[in-house]
Amino acid sequence: MTPADTAVFIDRLARARASMEANGVDTLLVSVGSDLPYLTGYEAMPLERLTMLVVPRHGEATLVIPRLEAPRVVEQPGAFSLRPWNETDDPVAIVAGLVSAPAVAAVGDTMWARFLVELLGHWPTDRTRYVRGTAVMNDLRMRKDAAEIAALQAAGAAADRVAAQLHAGEIPMVGRTEAEVSADISARLLAEGHDVVNFAIVAAGENAASPHHHPGPRVILDGELVLCDFGGTMAGYCSDITRCVHLGPPSNEIAEAYDVLHAAHAAGVAAGVVGAQCQDVDRAARKVITDAGYGEYFIHRTGHGIGMEAHEDPYMVEGNSLPIAAGHAFSVEPGIYVAGQWGMRLEDIVVAADGGPLSMNHANHSLVTLG
Ligand code: ZN
Ligand code: ZN
Ligand code: ZN
Repeated sequence: MTPADTAVFIDRLARARASMEANGVDTLLVSVGSDLPYLTGYEAMPLERLTMLVVPRHGEATLVIPRLEAPRVVEQPGAFSLRPWNETDDPVAIVAGLVSAPAVAAVGDTMWARFLVELLGHWPTDRTRYVRGTAVMNDLRMRKDAAEIAALQAAGAAADRVAAQLHAGEIPMVGRTEAEVSADISARLLAEGHDVVNFAIVAAGENAASPHHHPGPRVILDGELVLCDFGGTMAGYCSDITRCVHLGPPSNEIAEAYDVLHAAHAAGVAAGVVGAQCQDVDRAARKVITDAGYGEYFIHRTGHGIGMEAHEDPYMVEGNSLPIAAGHAFSVEPGIYVAGQWGMRLEDIVVAADGGPLSMNHANHSLVTLG
């Protein structure tokens, strides 16, 4: 994020205020967690010292921050002002003094409890009703704006480059342990521009039947299917991709199952249109797998939302009737897992748009044969 992005934060704060208006919230308090960088561009370290953005429904927002942290803030004139506090100040009193006791205060989920408890002394519950910050922020956070979609695209492209290296055989497999290959993929995610690696699952043979397998000392053998699911955070936004490779030609059983998986993935992506329900994505992918006779082997939901966090709303799961809106970003990741034998998953990140689903990933969808 650069100072040139000030307009982005002014726009997000304006939308937060519109949401406060719609939800009857007078004051929004955002402390550590991803809502703070979303609204200000500033990511606070999860310190014991108070950092809090105070957003009145009317009037300027103020970032109350320890004086020693203030130099790390890129100021966004017109979006919020800074109120540094000194080591001997009472920062909760400063927060409470910025606005008169609100009738309804929305409090971020990840504010330390100690600050809320102290705040109750200033704004007691007979005057102020407290609601969760998600009441204001969740819908906003789900609908990615243009800057966020660009960031997801850049992170997706970086993950795609690692997938291309995997498909090109540049990441040695046979004779290495899952943990070694995981470390190799992690290094490549960083080399391609990620700031942090969030996970790099490498699961060989029967281990791939466990969807969140932890890569370990298991040595990868010729003739096996290897599932690789990896992602990281780049400029504040997450990537997440799964590709499988086969070391040597696959059996007919695996090749046929993979064709089903590929068709299920395509059906899930195609169902991710504006106005459909989140559960429709799950149903579309699951129907292909179930109709082919593998239904009992698809043991998880089809996808999760993604953005500043690797897993966030909305979830693509049966029972979620939330309508898909333009800007919703989510994974489509059906899998087939035969316990004790093999497993496979195919995952891309998709953003719903008025013109149809946009994929953030473009790496080859096939079960690539190596060696
Ligand atoms: Zn994944
Ligand atoms: Zn995922
Ligand atoms: Zn495809």
